[in-house]
Amino acid sequence: MAKQADKHYDLIVVGAGSGGCAISKVAAESGLKVLLIDRRKKEKIGEKLTFDTIPAYVFKEFGIPVPEGKELDFRMKKLKVFSPSKAYSFEADVDAYLIHRRLLGQRLLKYALDANCEFLPETDVVEPIIEDNFVVGVKCRTSDGALKEFRSKVTCDASGFTAVMRNKLPSQVYHNERLLPEDTVVCYREVRDLIGDSAYTPDPDYPGWYCYLQNRGYFWVVPEQKGKTNVGCGLPMFPDHPDPRAVTIEFCESNPHVFGEKVYAKGTGPTPFIPVRADQPELVGNGFVLVGDAGYQVSTNSAYGVPASLLAGKMAAGVIKKAIEKGDVSREGLWEYNVMWKRGPGAFRAFADGIRLFVQNLSHDDINTLIKGKILGPKEFSAIWSDQTFDYTINEMVVKFLDNFMHMGLLVKAFLVFLLSKRLNRLYKNFPADIYAFDSWMSERTKTYNMLFSVLGVNRGL
Ligand SMILES: Cc1cc2nc3c(=O)[nH]c(=O)nc-3n(C[C@H](O)[C@H](O)[C@H](O)COP(=O)(O)OP(=O)(O)OC[C@H]3O[C@@H](n4cnc5c(N)ncnc54)[C@H](O)[C@@H]3O)c2cc1C
Repeated sequence: MAKQADKHYDLIVVGAGSGGCAISKVAAESGLKVLLIDRRKKEKIGEKLTFDTIPAYVFKEFGIPVPEGKELDFRMKKLKVFSPSKAYSFEADVDAYLIHRRLLGQRLLKYALDANCEFLPETDVVEPIIEDNFVVGVKCRTSDGALKEFRSKVTCDASGFTAVMRNKLPSQVYHNERLLPEDTVVCYREVRDLIGDSAYTPDPDYPGWYCYLQNRGYFWVVPEQKGKTNVGCGLPMFPDHPDPRAVTIEFCESNPHVFGEKVYAKGTGPTPFIPVRADQPELVGNGFVLVGDAGYQVSTNSAYGVPASLLAGKMAAGVIKKAIEKGDVSREGLWEYNVMWKRGPGAFRAFADGIRLFVQNLSHDDINTLIKGKILGPKEFSAIWSDQTFDYTINEMVVKFLDNFMHMGLLVKAFLVFLLSKRLNRLYKNFPADIYAFDSWMSERTKTYNMLFSVLGVNRGL
C-alpha cells in the first residue's frame, strides 16, 4: 500500500475539530480523496473541559442525528439573562442541546473515517506549501519528529483560533483581515458542585442556563449532570479587560452557599480564545479555504462556533468538489463557497455583529437600563441565540418608545444600531457572485461599519 507521503490528495484538512471533521465527512462522501490531520491523539479529538451548548436546528441542517445517550446532558429550553446589577432579568425561549463535547467530536470523526477519509493524528502542521501562488499542500511534523510533506489540490484551514495556515499565507495567495483584540473573547470556566440556589443562580433542574451581561462580555452558570455546574465567562480583550479566571473565582467565592469549594475541572479546552466578529471577508484563496474559527464564523453574541463550523464545512466541501471537477481551484474557482456562506449563515452573523458591538460598547448602567426597559429582551435574545435575525412591528416600536422615553438617547442609539445591523444583513445577503464586484462590496461594508462605530462613539477600524 502506498504511504500517505507518496499520495496526492484532493483535499487536505488541517484540524479535526467540528469544522475539520464536517468538511472531511462531506468531501469524502462525495468521492474526494481526503487527508485529515490533527496534532491531537485520536481519542482526544473533540475533548474539551465540559459540556457545550449547540442550537437544535444545526443537527437537521447538517444532516446528522441529534445527540442522545451519554452524548446528551439535557435539552435546553430557556436562557435567563441578567443585567450587570442583577436587578433586572428576563427569560428567553431557546432550543438547544447541552452536549458532551468529546463524544460529539468522536462521532463527527467517525463519520469522516467511515466515509474513507484518511486520518493522521498526533501530527503538527507547520506551514503551507506554496507554488505559483497556490497552496499545494502542507509541511508537518509527525509524532516521531519527522518533517513530512503532503500535497493536495485544495487545503482547508480548520485549525481553529490559531489559523496555522491562514496566518502564513502571502497576499498573492489569500487576503487576510487581521483580528483585533476587542473582537476576541478570552474564556475561563470551572466545574463545581451546585450546592444551593439564590435569586440569581439556577437550581439544578433549570431547563437551561443563566447568562449575566458584564465586562463587555458575559458570565454564565450552566447546571450540569449530577448536581454539578459549569461556571465561567468570556470577556473581549479590551486593554483593560479583567482576568476571566479572577472574575470566575470571585463570583464562586462570594456565593459559597451556591457553589461548592471543590473544583473538578478548570480551563477551557484547546484554546481559551474565540473570535466574535463577522467572518473573514474572503473565505477562499488559491487552492485554499477556511472553515470554522479559522474563518471567524462564530455566532458573534452567543460565541457558539460549532454550528457555523459544521454548516461551513458542508458548504465548502460541495464547492471544492465542483471546483476540482472543473479543474479550477483558484480563488475565483472556489468563490461560490464565499457567496453561499455570506448570503446564508454569514448574513445572520453580520446582523448579530451590530448588536454585539452595541452591547460591548455600553456602560453597565446603560445595559441595566436596556434590560429594565426591555429595549433588548426575550424577543431579541431568543432570535440571536438561535442564529436568527429579528424585526419589529410599528406597535412594538411604539411600546419601546413609550416605555423608554426617559432614556431617549439610549433608545435612539439602539434603533440606529438595529437599522445598521439590518443594513449589514442585507449587504451580506447581496454578496456578489461576481468576484470583480467584491471591492465595491468591501467599500460598502467598511462604510456601514464606520457608521456603526460613529453611532456607538467608538474610535476604531475593522
Ligand atoms: C470556553 C469555551 C466555550 C465554548 N462554548 C461553546 C458552546 O457552548 N457552543 C458552541 O457552539 N461553541 C462554543 N465555543 C466555541 C467553539 O469551541 C468553537 O467555535 C469551535 O470549536 C470551532 O470549531 P473549529 O473546528 O473551527 O476549531 P476547533 O474546535 O478549535 O478545532 C481545531 C482543531 O485543529 C487542531 N489544530 C490546531 N492547530 C493545529 C496544527 N498546527 N496542526 C494540526 N492540528 C492543529 C486542534 O487540535 C483542534 O482539534 C466555546 C469556546 C470556548 C473557548
